[in-house]
Amino acid sequence: MPSTTLLKSKGASGAAEQTVQHLIRGRRSGGGGRTAPVYDPATGAIAREVLLADKDTVKAAVSAAQEAFPAWRATAPLKRARVLAGFQRLLEAHQDEVCALVTAEQGKVLADSRGEVQRGIENVEFATYAPQLLKGEHSCHVGPGIDTWSEFQPLGVCAGITPFNFPAMVPLWMWPMALACGNTFVLKPSERDPSAALYVAELALQAGLPPGVLNVVNGDKEAVDALLTDPRIQAVSFVGSTPIAQYVYARGSAEGKRVQALGGAKNHAVVMPDADMAGTVRALMGAAFGTCGERCMAISVAVAVGDETAAALIDGLKAEMARMKVGPGTGDRCDMGPLVTRAQLDKVRDYIDQGVAQGASLVVDGRKLELPANRDGFFLGPCLFDHVKPDMQIYQDEIFGPVLCVVRVSSLGDAMALIDAHPYGNGTCIFTRDGESARYFAAEIQIGMVGINVPLPVPVAYHSFGGWKRSLFGDLGAYGPDAVRFYTRRKTITERWPAAGAREGTAFSFPSHQ
Ligand code: NAD
Repeated sequence: MPSTTLLKSKGASGAAEQTVQHLIRGRRSGGGGRTAPVYDPATGAIAREVLLADKDTVKAAVSAAQEAFPAWRATAPLKRARVLAGFQRLLEAHQDEVCALVTAEQGKVLADSRGEVQRGIENVEFATYAPQLLKGEHSCHVGPGIDTWSEFQPLGVCAGITPFNFPAMVPLWMWPMALACGNTFVLKPSERDPSAALYVAELALQAGLPPGVLNVVNGDKEAVDALLTDPRIQAVSFVGSTPIAQYVYARGSAEGKRVQALGGAKNHAVVMPDADMAGTVRALMGAAFGTCGERCMAISVAVAVGDETAAALIDGLKAEMARMKVGPGTGDRCDMGPLVTRAQLDKVRDYIDQGVAQGASLVVDGRKLELPANRDGFFLGPCLFDHVKPDMQIYQDEIFGPVLCVVRVSSLGDAMALIDAHPYGNGTCIFTRDGESARYFAAEIQIGMVGINVPLPVPVAYHSFGGWKRSLFGDLGAYGPDAVRFYTRRKTITERWPAAGAREGTAFSFPSHQ
């Protein structure tokens, strides 16, 4: 099975280190010279290393994809979909291995990894419907003997650059649909947890994907820049933090590529006085602290409408947080695992210090968490701040850790003004029993994905995912119908077959239906 082949033991030193390689032209490959450590976040130990591709390695991957393109493009859509359907079956059969790799390198608890992988599988399933989605548009008899149709053609070689927080799912937002549409692909996963994406790509090869159709290069900025400047890459899908998303969008667009770049977030949940408080508390617990807060759809701000609502919410959250079990992702019935790296842990702790220094009330202090058996792991307990103000750094920035901020406001209008003023626009939700408030909120709020009594309104695979404002650079979101449009370009053909013997004079005026 792929897991044993893609993690190559260095052998010579006899040490247990392993090296995560690239996958080019259907084969594992070296290349790049530099490496980065990959940690086990639960112990803090270096588990293995990952190769960091240089420009030549990226070039080799793009060449493989470029050479594989003509035959893959010419493969009938149904045959491409069948390969993906076979891959879906393999992925389902090997879910446990993928989840184990996600938990081992990202740190999230196994149940959470299972949710991630299941969502990825649903994206593959949607990609198998591509023949239906690629059928195009046809208009008969738009003029005398004239028909017009639009067809959706593949772009060529596409690239995907993905973040650490969903190492299995986010790549599956991209390449299955890109391939289903007839493109070939070069994926660059996060160098912090690269193994799951590589394992999954090898499953696709096993399912019959021709070599070169899907390539994986591991790496950092050097590899990303090589992808952005290679003229053979037609389109780039990026998911990650907003500063890098903006960079990738600007650089890739300047190189004439089609780019979609999904960025960071600060997602608010509005809690109305009439909300079912017990249900709201349970929902916010998962949305704020699942994946240790390392989700672009995590709720990081609860906006309580009224002081009574805030008091009830905080009482409920405190009680639930006291019951939370934090520990290794593989641990029995743990609710929350560690952060991904020590740098991420330090960054989150620094935000907590800043919140305290700027006057927010730290109601639950996760810094006090002690796990004697995992002293060197990247653990932090869940944190709750009350009386957070919009000018505080903990409110303005995406913290990406288990920190929930409560902001108190006096009306729904104030809550919505607060949310609209924030530069991010990924997700939001409202907890209420009042249909009128919910409907008004959904219609007017300046955010791309909205939940009504749903804390994580992550669209299902047959809708598309995308935020507004500084959470998405580009015009089309990820997966779903937007992905079909992103990975194809429309060609419109107008065809005339004059009736036998028909004669027309020369026309110098613009053709129209006058
Ligand atoms: P990141 O921006 O640090 O890294 C994302 C990718 O960019 C990685 O593959 C990385 O190697 C590459 N990269 C990093 N620095 C680079 C540079 N200077 N130049 C070129 N490439 C570079 O993001 P991350 O920390 O891996 O992931 C967390 C972020 O991703 C959060 O901000 C989160 O909100 C966001 N995210 C967004 C979505 C979404 O759909 N909007 C989904 C998941 C994660």
